[in-house]
Amino acid sequence: MIQRILPRAFSGKASSFLRTATASQSTLAQPLQKDDTILPKMPPFDYTPPPYTGPSAEEILSKRQRYLSPAVFHFYKNPINLVEGKMQYLFDDKGRRYLDAFGGIATVCVGHCHPQVVDAIVNQTNRLQHSTILYLNPAIADFVEALASKFSGDLKVVYFTNSGTEANELALLMARLYTGCHDVISIRNGYHGNAAGTMGATAQSSYKFNVVQSGVHHAQNPDQYRGIFGSDGLKYARDVEEIVTYGTSGHVGAFISEAIQGVGGIMELAPGYLPAVYDTIRKAGGLCIADEVQSGFGRTGSHFWGFEAHGVMPDIVTMAKGIGNGIPLGAVITTPEIAKVLSYRSYFNTFGGNPVCTAAGLAVLRVIESENLQKNSFVVGSHLKQRLTSLKEKFDIIGDVRGRGLMLGVELVKDRQLKTPAKMEILHIMEQMKEMGVVIGKGGFFGNVFRITPPLCFTKADADFLVDVMDYSLSKL
Ligand code: PMP
Repeated sequence: MIQRILPRAFSGKASSFLRTATASQSTLAQPLQKDDTILPKMPPFDYTPPPYTGPSAEEILSKRQRYLSPAVFHFYKNPINLVEGKMQYLFDDKGRRYLDAFGGIATVCVGHCHPQVVDAIVNQTNRLQHSTILYLNPAIADFVEALASKFSGDLKVVYFTNSGTEANELALLMARLYTGCHDVISIRNGYHGNAAGTMGATAQSSYKFNVVQSGVHHAQNPDQYRGIFGSDGLKYARDVEEIVTYGTSGHVGAFISEAIQGVGGIMELAPGYLPAVYDTIRKAGGLCIADEVQSGFGRTGSHFWGFEAHGVMPDIVTMAKGIGNGIPLGAVITTPEIAKVLSYRSYFNTFGGNPVCTAAGLAVLRVIESENLQKNSFVVGSHLKQRLTSLKEKFDIIGDVRGRGLMLGVELVKDRQLKTPAKMEILHIMEQMKEMGVVIGKGGFFGNVFRITPPLCFTKADADFLVDVMDYSLSKL
């Protein structure tokens, strides 16, 4: 029973758990009790948002449905109207507080509206916003120096973009120009962006949209849970050797991969895979691109960059998302020699690395350091993973718990032997967790994996609350 496992998480009795919280219940997404069951309690947080006076969720939804592309989807049957965010918490239009267990990757690396990042953005906006090229400005110089210091070896030269897609498009372009070879190898189930080149490299998108790119090869996924070779990275790496031998002229432009597939369901590549593949690619004259759009900036706890845990040194690294704590910013870092290829023609990005975005980027790096957030990711992430793993002992529906630091995945299956994806069940649990005050992500090839990627300021108490809520929701399934 939940009481035995979670003695700290209790609150008083209530019968309105599934009813909408009133403004007077305001910042508490608890107590959430039904019958006599004692429910987990969200850690306290000393902030009450001012009353919301904007349009209702229904009005917003109806405008979205009328005017926004049908491709813009939302989570939950009754989507939440989020109107404020503070660190690891979100507030809806009724003043109800939610623990954000997902937004850390998509937007807020160091916490919603972190005051130092907000100040940096506001101060720079008040002084100057402009394009990046043509004139000098100190913001880009300060940030680029700080960012380059986070890399070792010859990775020293940065080009800024506005998104992860643009960063990966540029990385692929540079690799092709540098090697004079068009062939690119990426991994099935990876995600690299939504423009033509990156969709081609994204095996997921090409199955959804069938975007065909000549010279793009999708290698077997070194998936430790579902893959045929289990955790034997070397065996999966042979597929890349075969692609090079039989699918190309023997010469390759680039290999691109994430260290932990994010959209693909928090799938850490099998150990030994990347070193073997990097070796193969380099022998074929290609460059190795590490897509750190999700796994960078201390997210994995043990290392600042995800690729470091695999013991490899890429030729090009791409970043975005958390780099600016929600401000549109992306970056590509490479060696001075590779970077030179872009100077043979005009290559221009109007807003990539503009003063406001780079001021935000610098503030993010400073906060990660001053608040020791990489270490926090390691400590809190290890605790969270260990508690989720215990939950796996209790519920057969949990097929796998994986990931590193604050980049964790929980895969739900109907049958542990057959690994049948529990697609409907995950939706139900997600709804239930939302009602209890936890916003969590979802992904994976079958859409049956919980993605837990909170802001790096997540605490142990937050982690306990999340697991307690998941425990309760699974026990009611
Ligand atoms: N690479 C990875 C690993 C991603 O997860 C994403 C976004 N989900 C991208 C690239 C593309 O980034 P953006 O959406 O900023 O274009």
